[in-house]
Amino acid sequence: MLNRAPIENGPQDGGHLPDLNPHLSDPVPPQVYEAPQMARVDRWIAAAGEWLARNQRSVMAVQWGIVGIYVLLVVVPAFLPPPARTAHIWTNLTLFAQFAFWGIWWPFVLVSMVMVGRLWCGVLCPEGALSETASRKGRGRSTPGWVKWKMWPFVAFVLTTVYGQMLSVYQYPKPALLILGGSTVAAIGIGYMYGRNKRVWCKYLCPVNGVFGLLSKLSPLHYRIDRDAWDASPKPAVRLNCAPMVPIRTMKGASTCHMCGRCAGFRDSVALSRRTPGSEIVHVAGFQTKPWETWLIVFGLLGVAAGAFHWASSAYFIAGKQAAAEWLVDNGIMWPITGHAPWWVLTNYPDLNDVMSPLDGAMLLTYLAIVALVFGGAIMLFLAAAGRLLARPFDGATMGAIWRQRTHHLAQALIPIAGSIVFLGLFATTASILKADGIRLTFVPTVENIIMALAATWSVALAWRICGLYTGSRGRQVLAAALMLGAIGAGVAAWALPY
Ligand code: SF4
Repeated sequence: MLNRAPIENGPQDGGHLPDLNPHLSDPVPPQVYEAPQMARVDRWIAAAGEWLARNQRSVMAVQWGIVGIYVLLVVVPAFLPPPARTAHIWTNLTLFAQFAFWGIWWPFVLVSMVMVGRLWCGVLCPEGALSETASRKGRGRSTPGWVKWKMWPFVAFVLTTVYGQMLSVYQYPKPALLILGGSTVAAIGIGYMYGRNKRVWCKYLCPVNGVFGLLSKLSPLHYRIDRDAWDASPKPAVRLNCAPMVPIRTMKGASTCHMCGRCAGFRDSVALSRRTPGSEIVHVAGFQTKPWETWLIVFGLLGVAAGAFHWASSAYFIAGKQAAAEWLVDNGIMWPITGHAPWWVLTNYPDLNDVMSPLDGAMLLTYLAIVALVFGGAIMLFLAAAGRLLARPFDGATMGAIWRQRTHHLAQALIPIAGSIVFLGLFATTASILKADGIRLTFVPTVENIIMALAATWSVALAWRICGLYTGSRGRQVLAAALMLGAIGAGVAAWALPY
């Protein structure tokens, strides 16, 4: 038997809508959670999960190692002199840290979500480890209502993304320390105050919690629960500590699970398992409709994040800024053009000829808002139209509730392109850092186009399958899928057009 620390589990996730599809009595098709005849590969996968459960001390040692690397890459460069113009990523720690952190670390954390779910969160994340450690020794208070506000995943992501652009977080070490280090300090503080051996910060407030939760729905791995075996097994003497407070017995997906492995083998009913990539989006997400997820996909990732990655090179942004500057000069208002602010408000590095004026800051905020509203608004219209087409009245639910559920579920089909936009934005950062060092990756535009084309194809396939869940009419399915093509096209355009 496995050694387990005593623990308590958190409440059920809120926000589940009732079954709004009269044709589906079970939100999860049997193949998602029923144990099939186990193939050898399934036994290896399950054994990997149980290995994690047995080796939590090793996991903790790895986490502390990552904390050390994190300090080296994020904290140390902020206290070093700026790199000389002749410095390279292999001769200067600041440049190396910039490349390693933004060019390698973050893009591949995103990829790992799609490949292995939130293993990063549960096994490697330094912030989660520090927060849980603080929680072990802290006050252990119950989590207040403001921490549990359901829109945090959207709001925290947007605020962090916008603030990062205002400070040029990818270019300079001090903003990176302020934003990432500030987040880490907050994670420790929240851990110290609330919960016992828990990751309250990760579950509710981490700025990338929402994005990671969405991407992990695409993963081919998850912890499968055999509920019959769970119910039939005797109650264990010790309780299991699920740090992100997932209601394990009723867990049906991977988006809230941090894949830490602690529950593997628990009550002989939990096993790391394979599943069809994206099956959670088709078969589970529609029954766990959370409006913040739609906001994050449509206005956060396909709006603000898309704009954040290309505003500096956008011809529209430059033209708008020139027009605004000319109007200000014509009217004798100069301070927005000549003024500047501290580096922690707006980018301010005069020695490097890199200063954002109040006009630059205002134009940046305006541009991101316009991109979010134009592309996000267009996507929402397509989603709502497709949702309306698939909404059919039946007893027990209002038409409005059915329509909203369809619309939110359809939005989940956009996760592949939404995730690709963030990955490609960071990938472009990788390429530009290498280019500044004289290493030109001429294949980057081709790779970017291929990745976006594959993501769009995946979104189309998911949309087609979701539409098919809600109608028996092939014609209605085709019409709804055609509207979804419009939403997917608008999402791709948010990435491609403003260049
Ligand atoms: S359900 Fe909880 S304990 Fe189990 S793997 Fe996920 S995060 Fe860990």
